[in-house]
Amino acid sequence: MSKPDIAPPPLRNDCFALPAGVNWTPVDEALALLKDRLTVVTGVETVPLMQAAGRILAADVSAKRSNPPQPNTAVDGYGFSGPAPDGPCVLPLVEGRAAAGVPFSGDVPRGHAVRVLTGAALPEGVDTVILEEDVTLDQGHIAFRGPLKQGANTRKAGEDVTEGALALPAGRRLTPADLALLSAVGVAEISARKALRVGILSTGDELVEPGDTAGPGQIYDANRPMLLSLVRRIGFDAVDLGCAADDRAALKLHLDQAAQQVDVILTSGGASAGDEDHVSALLSEAGAMQEWRIALKPGRPLALGMWNHTPVFGLPGNPVAAMVCTLIFAHPALSLMAGAGWQEPMGFDVPAAFEKRKKPGRREYLRARIREGRAEVFHSEGSGRISGLSWAEGLVEIQDGAREIKPGDPVRFIPYGSFGL
Ligand code: AMP
Ligand code: MG
Repeated sequence: MSKPDIAPPPLRNDCFALPAGVNWTPVDEALALLKDRLTVVTGVETVPLMQAAGRILAADVSAKRSNPPQPNTAVDGYGFSGPAPDGPCVLPLVEGRAAAGVPFSGDVPRGHAVRVLTGAALPEGVDTVILEEDVTLDQGHIAFRGPLKQGANTRKAGEDVTEGALALPAGRRLTPADLALLSAVGVAEISARKALRVGILSTGDELVEPGDTAGPGQIYDANRPMLLSLVRRIGFDAVDLGCAADDRAALKLHLDQAAQQVDVILTSGGASAGDEDHVSALLSEAGAMQEWRIALKPGRPLALGMWNHTPVFGLPGNPVAAMVCTLIFAHPALSLMAGAGWQEPMGFDVPAAFEKRKKPGRREYLRARIREGRAEVFHSEGSGRISGLSWAEGLVEIQDGAREIKPGDPVRFIPYGSFGL
């Protein structure tokens, strides 16, 4: 059979330009839009403090009591009414002592001192403490060398937090330190947001489950285990929605069921405008689809839509792009929906250990890690190079306008930890 005489299309002058008539939305603009459009979707429940780690406060919490609740001593020593003048001081000791949790019940007359132990409430008539190391003790008296300021070695009532003051604001995701603070100010239970339920769905005829036998042309589903654990690590309730074939009816069924179960759906794959890109096709059919052509690498395409009132983030199929889009777009968006407010990842400037040229006009995220104080990047930018995601310990963010990075130039490194990973 003779081959038909067809010529390939000629190279176009603008073959390196962005597609004609397409507006590429800058990353910051896309983020601002998400921030503006999304709202909190989770309910509220009461949670005992002991179970509240990682939970999001649904309301401001104010201190039920001051911390410290009463003036107390910061050291082991002897308390008296200060200040002590310059020079030698000798004070008679009263009988008894004040210890943490066991207050001294009597009075300490002016010119007398009392034994005090760290954390003890200051007895009546005591406002100043001399360290035991600075004292000689003999015949029921202490001797030390002044001067000593009034209030020395003591903690004032409420010097940390005063009763009624705001201890932590609504939207705060509680850290271990927060639990210490809330407990100290007398809070035993909090009003928390219920966990945001995030459904994770993979799409593609080529995908097989880890552990199954992969035939020719098949690949293991890498996105689902990654995204499920990522969403859990960030602190949401991850729901495994399985894997949908490249079949519109099957995918529709998956989405219908998912929308009943979860607050938000993350799909991966099938988000472009190709023949087998059924996520974007279905969302378009439903009339609630925005294809976001974001000036971002890696990351295209991102399809955002509503399915039966449930937001769908149609992430790219390539695992690197899927992870970057999840961290950059889905993470702050999910945080907002969960009641934790819009979360910007914390990054810091470090010198580059690499060289790179890029097209101005788009944001780039490189798989990176810090070694010897400099950011090094993975040797390949290929968005199917999953090993690079694993090699990396964070992302280097290169600003839209940059053209060239030289070794030593400052670049912004965002550790995975900044995203809660
Ligand atoms: P798509 O956007 O569906 O065209 O997918 C883009 C690329 O990502 C293709 O090479 C897919 O095989 C690959 N891909 C899509 N989903 C996954 C997944 N869950 N795990 C690993 N690779 C995937
Ligand atoms: Mg696909």
